[in-house]
Parts: sequence; structure tokens; C-alpha cells
Amino acid sequence: MKVKTRFAPSPTGDLHIGSIRTALYSWLFARHYNGKFVLRIEDTDFERSKSLSVKSIFKGLKWLGLNWDEGPYFQSKRLDRYQEVIEDMLKSGNAYKCYCSPQSIEEERIKQLHKGKKPRYSGICRNLKTRCINNKYTVRFKNPTFGKVTFEDKIRGEITFNNMELDDLIIQRSNGMPTYNLCVVIDDLDMNITHVIRGEDHINNTPRQINILKSLKAKIPIYAHVSMILNENGKKFSKRDNAENIIEYYKKGFLPEALINYIIRLGWSHGNQEIFSLSELKKIFNLDTISKSSSSFNMKKLLWLNKYYINHLPLFYVSNILKDYMKNENIKIENGPNLECLLNLYKNRHSTLKDLVCSLRVFYEEFEYYDIKFANQYFILKNLYILKNIYKKIQKCIFWEIKILSEIIMNQSIESNTELKEINMLLRFVLTGYVSSPNMSSVIFLLGKEKTLLRLKNAMIFIEKNYIKLQ
Ligand code: GLU
Ligand code: ZN
Repeated sequence: MKVKTRFAPSPTGDLHIGSIRTALYSWLFARHYNGKFVLRIEDTDFERSKSLSVKSIFKGLKWLGLNWDEGPYFQSKRLDRYQEVIEDMLKSGNAYKCYCSPQSIEEERIKQLHKGKKPRYSGICRNLKTRCINNKYTVRFKNPTFGKVTFEDKIRGEITFNNMELDDLIIQRSNGMPTYNLCVVIDDLDMNITHVIRGEDHINNTPRQINILKSLKAKIPIYAHVSMILNENGKKFSKRDNAENIIEYYKKGFLPEALINYIIRLGWSHGNQEIFSLSELKKIFNLDTISKSSSSFNMKKLLWLNKYYINHLPLFYVSNILKDYMKNENIKIENGPNLECLLNLYKNRHSTLKDLVCSLRVFYEEFEYYDIKFANQYFILKNLYILKNIYKKIQKCIFWEIKILSEIIMNQSIESNTELKEINMLLRFVLTGYVSSPNMSSVIFLLGKEKTLLRLKNAMIFIEKNYIKLQ
């Protein structure tokens, strides 16, 4: 059997973390067995489907490297096929037309609720002898009225439903549109899907879909229903949780490798191993160790993984991605040091590319103002004198080397009888605007002579103008 899985999102919003995990599981399962992975867009709900969401689904999957072998199929382009099956089902007696008005169905529902019963369609139109010509109708599937539906869920084990619990499902609405359960069944059948890996919210649909498949004498795929991902408070994700939306991860500067590694570990394990590369996952992934219980999102862990990947992936690869983030922020990297060298110096200080961009900006652009709190602390007469001396020494410096820069700072510390730490702090603040940075001589080395001199001078002028005169 050639394994074929699919990812079938409804394009009603951006991809969220739960859908990404189902996509990832389906993709890996197909890759593990050298099978095929199909992308199918379930867009028959015209009111809620948006083309922008379709684009964002493609973008999200591509960003994560989850490539598809077939599709994208669009359900909206397969309406004729669904119509054909509905007509066949009507002919074979597996489906029938229901002429009940929405009002009468609603009345029936309320009556049943009053009696304390679970509301279900009575099946009144099942055996209608006369046809109500011209009246609006829906088409319903003739669900078996007795017996059970049992399936072996790859994650949850055996699941059984009584057919009595399932009423005759609408497969075509009165406006002629096929419904979700029918489209999924026909698609999975036509596309030869062998394994349906999807969210647990579809467990209740499964017995209905199996019954339809059985009525069509089709092979039943294997089902695996993945549990929910809860937010950090252990609650269902809501619109307010930014952490849910895939685009947010891109914007914040997470690497796809980190996100994939994080998502895969949310509910799947391989011993105690934490770090997985995609190629390793393709080899070892299976559905057997997926957890049945829901998992809670943990931003700290994701940040830890992102930092890990920023530090462990090849420098040129990360710096190439970082380049795009710098560009998006309108930072002209041709105006400053080699990004790869800079990344090497800063990579273990930040957990996201966005934070890296914030720190690295000062190597390419002048900063506009000093933080007043630190300016008050550092801009004193003694430091003006220190800056002047360093300026002179750097100006004279012919060989631009870290070792020489380091000596300049060291000598200044001795000459002015000031702790090295203090001189470094002063330089850090004057040259980067920040009070924390990597080793100062490396920072100066990468900043370059011209920018260093300019910033020293600017600081000296600023101190003389704003501080010394007042003292
Ligand atoms: N379109 C459905 C959803 O987005 C998925 C259907 C399925 O996987 O069977 O929830
Ligand atoms: Zn009816």
C-alpha cells in the first residue's frame, strides 16, 4: 500500500499552531513511508473562505518546508463531481430528498429538547411516497438505523458509535451546495487517501464519513485524531492569543527549524530526545508515540529552541535569513559590517531574529538619542577626558585589529586609573546606545573606524554642550 496523506485546511483565517501540527504529522508520515502528501483547500463555505487565507496557508507551509506532492486541490472546483455522487446516491437509495422546512426542523428540535431528548432529525422524509415538486429540499444520507460503527484510531485506539446516535446527515443544502462531510469523503476517496490525520474535533464526523464510504462500497482509510494544543493558561486558544497564528512566528523571528522542532515535540516523543532535524524526523516519525492528551503551549521552551537553532545552524544560512529581516526593517546592510561576522558575535545573546535586528541596527545606522537615565550616569567630566584620549588613539590607529583595540582600552584604563569594566560600559553606551553588548573591542572592530570616531565625537560634543556647562 502506497501511503497517501493529506492536509485539508478551510481557508477561513491564517494557519494556526494546531493546524500546523496536523499538517506536520501528515507530511512526516507520508515522507517516512516514501508516500505522497496532498494539499486540499476546503473552501465550499463561500461566505467564510478568503483568498487571503489561501495565500497565507501556502506561505506558511512553504516557510516551514512542508512541500506537497499533489494539489492544491480546491473543493470549490470539484462541485460537479460532488453533484454526480449525490445524484448516484439518490438513485441507489443511499440518499433521499428532505422537504422539511428549517422552521419545522427547529420546532422538532425544541420539542425534543423539552422532553429532555438529544435532538435529532426524525427521518420523516425517508419514505415519502409522493414528491413535493417545486418545493425546496435538502439531500440527506440514509444512515443505518441500527448497529455500530467502530474504527481503530491510530492515536486513540478503538472508537465505537451507535448508529442510533447519528441522524440522517444533510449532504446537500437547499441552495444546492454539498456539505463538508460529503466533500471530505469523496475527496479522500478520489485522491486515494490512505491515512486521515486530523484534529480531534473531527472524531464525531468520522462514523458519518465511514457510513457514507461504506454505502459507496469504498475502502475506509485509517484515521488518526490529534489532540488539541492549549494556550499557556491551559485554555483553548482564542483570537487574543497571538501565539496561535503562524505569521506571528515569522514576524517575531523564529526559524522554521525551531518551530518544527517545537511543534513536533508538543504531543510526540522519541525517548527523551529534544532536538530533531527534519531529515532525522523523516526517518523516525511514527504515529504510535503521539499522546492522546492535549498539550500546553510553552513560549519559553520555543524561545530556548530558537536560540539553540540560531546558534547551531550554519552561520551563512541564519545570516541569509537575517538579511531579509534587516531588509524588512529598511536597514541598509551595505552601510556596515559583514552580517555573518556580526551574527557570530551576537548570536548567543538573543532568542529571536527580531531581537537580533534590534541590537544590530546600530552597526548600520546612527542612533538618534541617548537614554537620559544612563546619560546622566556616564556623561561626567572624567569620562569626557577618557573619551578624548580614546578618540585620539583610535584616530592614530593604523592596523584595525581586535588586539590593538583591546590594548587601547586597557591602556586607557591604566592611564586614567579607572576600572576596565567602567571604560567598557562608557564605550558601550557611547558607541551602541545600549548598556549591554559583546566584548567591546570586537564591537569596535566591526563597527569600523569611521563610525567609531563619529560616535565618540558626537558624544564629546553632547557632553560638553549638555553636561559640562551645567556643572
Ligand atoms: N477542513 C477541515 C478543517 O479545517 C479538515 C477536514 C479534515 O481534515 O477532514 O478543520
Ligand atoms: Zn424531511
